[in-house]
Amino acid sequence: MNNLSLAIHGGAGTILKSSMTAEKEIAYKNALENALNAGYQLLENGASSIDAVQRAVSELENSPLFNAGKGSVFNSEGTHEMDASIMDGQTLNAGAVSAIAGIKNPIQLARFVMDKSDHVFLLGKGAEDFAREVGCEFQSKEYFYDEFRYQQWLEIKGTGKFQLDHSKTKEQKFGTVGAVALDQMGNIAAATSTGGMTNKKYGRVGDSPIIGAGNYANNETCAVSCTGSGEFFIRGVVAFDVSCLMEYKGLCLKAACHEVIQKRLLKIGGDGGLIAIDKVGNVALEFNTEGMYRGKRTNQGVNEVSIYKD
Ligand code: ASP
Repeated sequence: MNNLSLAIHGGAGTILKSSMTAEKEIAYKNALENALNAGYQLLENGASSIDAVQRAVSELENSPLFNAGKGSVFNSEGTHEMDASIMDGQTLNAGAVSAIAGIKNPIQLARFVMDKSDHVFLLGKGAEDFAREVGCEFQSKEYFYDEFRYQQWLEIKGTGKFQLDHSKTKEQKFGTVGAVALDQMGNIAAATSTGGMTNKKYGRVGDSPIIGAGNYANNETCAVSCTGSGEFFIRGVVAFDVSCLMEYKGLCLKAACHEVIQKRLLKIGGDGGLIAIDKVGNVALEFNTEGMYRGKRTNQGVNEVSIYKD
């Protein structure tokens, strides 16, 4: 049997043990495990990597613990604007959405953009109109309301500042979510979904929905999903850079991820991390922050979730 492999993340950032209770840690780990279970079960049943990453990300979007879907942060208007993207490494097909509101699973909409439209990237109201046409599930404002997120926003509302939900200053620790997978046909895929940054304004778009910045997949090299300060990931074209280092320089997955996150990204002042997978199922979980919510499972006996640095 071919290798099967799935990796997920729930955001990188300053995840301090001092502000983590045993109870919370269990809740995060359970949520990560649920997402791994859901995605991996599909892979085991012969589903494609693109279905598996969508499924794992949907699970994380449905959890209030992570900054995506239900747990999305508040923008400067006190509402939510979500971003997501998905990419199929076999065909290089991709779908992305940005600044959307009310859609329960943004990653599903990104998938519909990929499968059911002639486009790659839809934005705002247009994306929401498309979501209605293709039958995406919408949810009320109450569904997306989270007291903790609201308090986070109130603290910086009106200051003109915006922050990662897991920024250094705030010791907050929920994040963007993502998944990468290898299926039994040898195809890889990547998916990423986020609520972006607390108090963001002016229609700010992060790296998560930008193909090549926060998300990328190519069977020839790797599938990558990123998390961190999006502006730097856009400038570093981080996900594509990992792929390029493998393709043009012949680096292995681990070396390429290390080079990008520990050297190139740091050089321009960016903090964050990524998860990546190659066509034989090697997995890299690389970050330059205190921690990253993450997990991986393979049919070679690997099955783990973790939060802090090892
Ligand atoms: N990368 C995301 C953004 O900048 C934030 C995150 O990873 O939590 O929108």
